[in-house]
Amino acid sequence: MKYVLVTGGVVSGLGKGVTASSIGVILKACGLRVTSIKIDPYLNTDAGTMSPFEHGEVFVLDDGGEVDLDLGNYERFLDIKLTRDNNITNGKIYQAVIDKERRGDYLGKTVQVVPHVTDAIQDWIERVAQVPVDGKSGPADVCVIELGGTIGDIESMPFIEALGQFSYRVGAGNFCLVHVSLVPVLNVVGEQKTKPTQHSVRGLRGLGLTPDILACRSTSALEDNVKQKLAQFCHVPSESIVTLYDVPNIWHIPLLLRDQKAHEAILRVLNLHGVAKEPDLREWTARAELCDALHEPVRIAMVGKYTGLSDAYLSVLKALLHASVALQKKLVVDWVPATDLEDETAQEVPMVNLAACSIFQCADGILVPGGFGDRGVQGKILAAKFARENRIPYLGICLGMQIAVIEFARSVLNMQDANSTEFDTHTKNPCVIFMPEGSKTHMGGTMRLGSRRTYFHVNDCKSAKLYGNKSYVDERHRHRYEVNPDMVARFEDAGLSFTGKDETGQRMEIIELPNHPYYVGVQFHPEFKSRPGKPSPVFTGLIAAACGQLEGVLQQNHRVSNGFGKPNGVGNGIAKISVYQNGHATKFAKMTTTNGNGIYSNGMQF
Ligand code: GLN
Repeated sequence: MKYVLVTGGVVSGLGKGVTASSIGVILKACGLRVTSIKIDPYLNTDAGTMSPFEHGEVFVLDDGGEVDLDLGNYERFLDIKLTRDNNITNGKIYQAVIDKERRGDYLGKTVQVVPHVTDAIQDWIERVAQVPVDGKSGPADVCVIELGGTIGDIESMPFIEALGQFSYRVGAGNFCLVHVSLVPVLNVVGEQKTKPTQHSVRGLRGLGLTPDILACRSTSALEDNVKQKLAQFCHVPSESIVTLYDVPNIWHIPLLLRDQKAHEAILRVLNLHGVAKEPDLREWTARAELCDALHEPVRIAMVGKYTGLSDAYLSVLKALLHASVALQKKLVVDWVPATDLEDETAQEVPMVNLAACSIFQCADGILVPGGFGDRGVQGKILAAKFARENRIPYLGICLGMQIAVIEFARSVLNMQDANSTEFDTHTKNPCVIFMPEGSKTHMGGTMRLGSRRTYFHVNDCKSAKLYGNKSYVDERHRHRYEVNPDMVARFEDAGLSFTGKDETGQRMEIIELPNHPYYVGVQFHPEFKSRPGKPSPVFTGLIAAACGQLEGVLQQNHRVSNGFGKPNGVGNGIAKISVYQNGHATKFAKMTTTNGNGIYSNGMQF
């Protein structure tokens, strides 16, 4: 096993996660099998209890692991499925060490950071790196390890010490350190400054780690003399210094690394030159350029709680982007803070309410994502109502599906106080109820987490067709509450269709309004399994409906599931990406214009 460690210096937010994932992409493009580990030096055992407002979304894995959103980047970029152990935190390591101490496994020794914690870290890395994550058997060739935080942080010290020892343990030729740093440009003189990078490399060396490659974030490519200076002061050959300059969308990053021969530098350090082939990134190139060239907008109103922070809904945004690119549309996300839609805001700050409502008027589609707690619920219910009554394509995810059910009960079944018991424990019409898989009395550990199976109960429905008429799908979950099975018959009589259920038929997984252009709610989180080139079917449905192409997409899926042609974007050759165009899958030929951008949000790119 070969290891590539990615560390970060100078400041946080340099895009270390995307850089590490992109390194994985070029290595994979060289024919190597790649896995990854993310180290988060915080004390939380996992990201499950952390506020999305502070830390971005909680990403959910197949095994139910609630992990850092960077693992989502790895899964999307490398098209792999990670396990909860691929995310190491201080909390997990200390828990393992303390458990071992309580069992008496340290045989009376004083338990210390060095060697006990540092050994536990190294053993963990070595063990998890062996686990195959790409569906094939046997361990991968390379494990990319990303160390969260910035060099110099107190809490990452045991990890740095452990990784220094680890590089020695695995030996020369098996360990490559890529240090991501910042080269700021001072506006007054326009000069690229190397000092911050010099300092952070010095810090790294002082802690026993020597960088093999420097990846410098800067606004434009590093000038030659700047590279020479860095090479001289940081003792890194100039051909091993790459610039990560600003690009229109993140799919360019693997291309940027390839163009600067970062793969050659890494393969040299890892003695893999004989094994690896020239990187084949044709699919990435086509996708990155297609994304730049898109100009016809599709406007999606996102009604959420954390609309100030796009990272809180990162996977949802990515899934929207994957689907939009596949349909050759430029995604424009209009954020609508759910509370802005509510009566209270309308009375107290009418202008804010008016602004939020006007976003709806020009939305091609409305999405209500998952969430916890009752803030903004009323606004989300209004959003679902607006979409239902005005026949605007709607996708409700987890809480967004529960909201749609509550709205339907209130408006169509006339149950004024219908609610989820999460928000009103005493409601007379509990249409969404606490349905833990285990204990009914203990809240701790009662979340339904990870991959669960949904069986289609109605064949002639949009969701089944979008999923290629399979009899079941496996998607990831993270919730406690579900549609009350005792009320399902009444909903069905009134026209709400429950097209997907679990194996017992008691848990409602997918809802649809058959007579609406696209009104779909899913109890699971399809965003976690969306990939560039393999968009999540229900997101494809939303975007297709939003731009009037759903019928064509459904017909295309029908042809595919009957054995004619290949599904959209699924490994059917390398040099082309299948995209939907006016309802027909077409091959994407290389485009020359690069004027477009990635996602726009309220007119701003993020
Ligand atoms: N709060 C809801 C539940 O626990 C929805 C959760 C979610 O949207 N992830 O069921």
